[in-house]
Amino acid sequence: MRTDGRDPSGNVRDRGSGGGAVGAGLGAGALFAIVRRIGVRGTLIAVVALAGIYFFNPLGIRDTVFGLLFGGTPGVTQSSQGEGSACDAQKPACDFSSRILRSTEIVWRDQFQQGRLPNYGSRTQAYEDPVLNFFSGGVSSGCGQASSEMGPFYCPGDKQLYIDPTFYQVMEQRLNAPGDFAQAYVIAHEVGHHVQNLIGATNKTLPGEDRNLTSVRIELQADCLAGVWGHNDQAALDISEADRREALNAAHQIGDDTLSQGRADPRQYTHGTGPQRMRWFNQGFNSGDPRRCDTFAVPAGQL
Ligand SMILES: [Zn+2]
Repeated sequence: MRTDGRDPSGNVRDRGSGGGAVGAGLGAGALFAIVRRIGVRGTLIAVVALAGIYFFNPLGIRDTVFGLLFGGTPGVTQSSQGEGSACDAQKPACDFSSRILRSTEIVWRDQFQQGRLPNYGSRTQAYEDPVLNFFSGGVSSGCGQASSEMGPFYCPGDKQLYIDPTFYQVMEQRLNAPGDFAQAYVIAHEVGHHVQNLIGATNKTLPGEDRNLTSVRIELQADCLAGVWGHNDQAALDISEADRREALNAAHQIGDDTLSQGRADPRQYTHGTGPQRMRWFNQGFNSGDPRRCDTFAVPAGQL
């Protein structure tokens, strides 16, 4: 693929580093620092509270693509503004992400204009460009404090995306998911969550289905919407078959079954299996039609 066919987006912010990510990932050092600061009892209370926040998801933070799977938890942090630049040392990654964001703006503006969207009862409105924040280490978002170890995420509350640009190295080195189009897929997936937010899919539930299955439906739909984006800007970005395979490989590598090496109970899955994620990405990429991404219209067994 090549991104020089697209300008950088004007909707990016460099939030710098820090943002008070004291407990990022709760590594041993960070944990000791917290215990020293607030004591053992305080730490236990904080951990229980954070677990509650995470599992009951009161802010609707459904997406932390790699979240708990990396052992990351929402950071135990003080809120503060980041310092310096997250992009100075990561210029190519930030520039690339910004151009992909621009591409998604063009595609989704057009899809919204044409009303080509799954219908969840929300009045079809014009597309609203989301802001993409680059951060390093930790960041304060409308969904609370977040750390890099949670992975890139979208916050429905402030309608903004957050990514630590070094995440692309994590993909290549820890997830065996290299390639520029694999990286573009990550941005497009998060933008997919923004689309879901605008069309009212984010709060959709089906009777009798639990939180995890609902989350799987949401995540697979975001994968499908990422594929729709790829289809609709294929020419301008010169997306090849090899590129598509990079995205499919990434979708496979971040499937719940792959990440848990088959050890997790499928009822605990929140993002779908590798094959499911590949299938839904392809569904979007092949059709180019967001209406073919209605994961809520499919029986659970056929996702
Ligand atoms: Zn997601």
